Amino acid sequence: MPWIARLRLLVLVFWALLPGGMAAAHAASAGALDVAPMPLPVLSLTHHVATLEDPGGRLTLQDVLRPELAARFASGHPAAEAFNHGITPSAWWFRITLRNPLPQAQQRLLEVGYARLSQVSLHQLLPDGSVHTVDTGVTAPFASRPLAHRFFVFPITLAPGSEQTLYLRVQSLTAFIVPLRLWEPQAFHHQARNDYLAQAWYLGMATAMVLFNLLLFVRLGDRIYIHYVAFALCMAFAVAAQNGLVKEFLPLQAPWWSDLASTFGYSLAIATGLQFMRHMLGTAHTQPLWDRVLRPLVAFFVLSPVVFVWTGQTFIPSAAVVYLGAVLVAVATALRGVWQRQRSAYFFMAAFGLLALGAMANAVRAMGLLPTNGLTANAMQIGSALEMVLLAFALADRFNEMRREKAGIQKKLLTTQQTLIDNLRQSEQVLEQRVQERTQELQQLNQKLAALSMTDGLTGIANRRHFDEILATEWHRAQRSGQPLTLALLDVDWFKSYNDHYGHLAGDECLRSIAHVLAQSAVRSGDLVARYGGEEFAFLAPDTDAAGVVEVAHRIQATLAQLALPHGTSAYQHVTVSIGLASVVPSLHDTPDTLVRLADQALYRAKTEGRNRIVLA
Ligand code: GH3
Ligand code: MG
Ligand code: MG
Repeated sequence: MPWIARLRLLVLVFWALLPGGMAAAHAASAGALDVAPMPLPVLSLTHHVATLEDPGGRLTLQDVLRPELAARFASGHPAAEAFNHGITPSAWWFRITLRNPLPQAQQRLLEVGYARLSQVSLHQLLPDGSVHTVDTGVTAPFASRPLAHRFFVFPITLAPGSEQTLYLRVQSLTAFIVPLRLWEPQAFHHQARNDYLAQAWYLGMATAMVLFNLLLFVRLGDRIYIHYVAFALCMAFAVAAQNGLVKEFLPLQAPWWSDLASTFGYSLAIATGLQFMRHMLGTAHTQPLWDRVLRPLVAFFVLSPVVFVWTGQTFIPSAAVVYLGAVLVAVATALRGVWQRQRSAYFFMAAFGLLALGAMANAVRAMGLLPTNGLTANAMQIGSALEMVLLAFALADRFNEMRREKAGIQKKLLTTQQTLIDNLRQSEQVLEQRVQERTQELQQLNQKLAALSMTDGLTGIANRRHFDEILATEWHRAQRSGQPLTLALLDVDWFKSYNDHYGHLAGDECLRSIAHVLAQSAVRSGDLVARYGGEEFAFLAPDTDAAGVVEVAHRIQATLAQLALPHGTSAYQHVTVSIGLASVVPSLHDTPDTLVRLADQALYRAKTEGRNRIVLA
């Protein structure tokens, strides 16, 4: 078939599926319907069949052929895609007479285009008076169908110039929807191929979603993916059952199972869908009140398949109402989530909005309130496909959002850590500075202490301890270098009487003055002036011979004479000192005491010789 012809056929078929197209498709006829020529390759028969309701469902073909019942068949139904009686215990009979006005035999296909019908029986009253009966329906084995197809399709052969009356009996446990169409075989097969392609596309997509999210669950361990997988599985199963594919391709053919498979599927799809929503929106925390409504609803839909098997049709209408209620509750919950500005709720709302529209269209169609057409018949499938894609996107977004949150937390942690490190560093610096300051202070204190321990409190020159140390050091140095070491010991003359006369404080002042004179006279580096004890002083001169120090001693005496500190009880009338001087080049077995003893002896001599003089040892 050239592509332009295919396109024309598609457009024509679609047009025929729209409710408005039917009336124009074929003029109404009171008697037999001419099957040729057909203005379109497909023709809806709702306008052409006469119908009879059998509330007890016990009438046989013989019954409906009897004139009194035959007369009760109602005809002249409006053109529509399907007869829709909602959920009914009645069986319905459909009668139509087809005529072939042409001299060639004609092949047609009668399609009952709804897969969930429990019992579908076709009786063909052939021209030779015989009856050809086919008993099928979803509760019958798939092999009972004359044509292997997800719907119930019956081949009709009309001999040249003949008429044939068909009686179709239909009964359904679930929704009673009977789209009746007459097809040219070629057009039907062409449409069937496209139709199966669409089914395969949907199921393939569902399978991919299920596998992908299963892998995500295995990898990420987030339970939301398992909820999604369960939901997608149940949904795909329900849609496949609704479309007759479960019956066609799964081996389980038990009547109760075939009759209720899609109902089971939808119940579990709602249960898992609600569970998924609870998990995704975190309703237990974000909407605890609604969550208390959602939980029993989930339980209801998990348990309802058992109730269906138990109660059969009586439970189905009330279940349909709960279906609608559940959809409304889900939408309301998602809306609340949107109101609370939950990001996942936006996606959920969009996704479930589409599915809910499909489900509502499906439920309302099942209750007989919506016409059957291409859109409503596939509403669930279209809604479900769009919803699956959107939800997968929502899961991806959720993953992204979580990653972003994690990154944010990590960043915060990092900055906190950095601040901590900075603080630590800062306090470390402060501590280091403090330690430095303290160390410096300590050093200064130590220096002060050391200086204090070496100086004489009264006069401020070196004390006896310091003198002993320096003397020992210089002694050893002189021992090594062979240079002379000279010591002068000075003693204030008649100082006892000075104290007695001028008082102790004046005595102290006098000692300070003498120390000052001594310090002034020590001009060479290395010379040491010390208070040796009481009113005695020492002058130590390393690398200096006696002559050098005698000179210094004279200078001291001269300065004191110039100062002329008054001393009334002294023979010289002013403060004088006696100086004993000794100079040695230390030998290896001598000790510093030698030098001190020599100087002391010289001092003693200076005293005895009249004081205020210098004696060299
Ligand atoms: P001489 O000429 O023989 O040395 O007679 P002197 O009186 O100085 O005799 P001596 O050396 O025995 O006397 C030492 C006196 O020095 C005793 C004490 O009163 C006085 N003196 C010792 N140390 C101090 C001091 O730190 N301050 C004062 N004011 N007097 C002291
Ligand atoms: Mg003395
Ligand atoms: Mg004295």
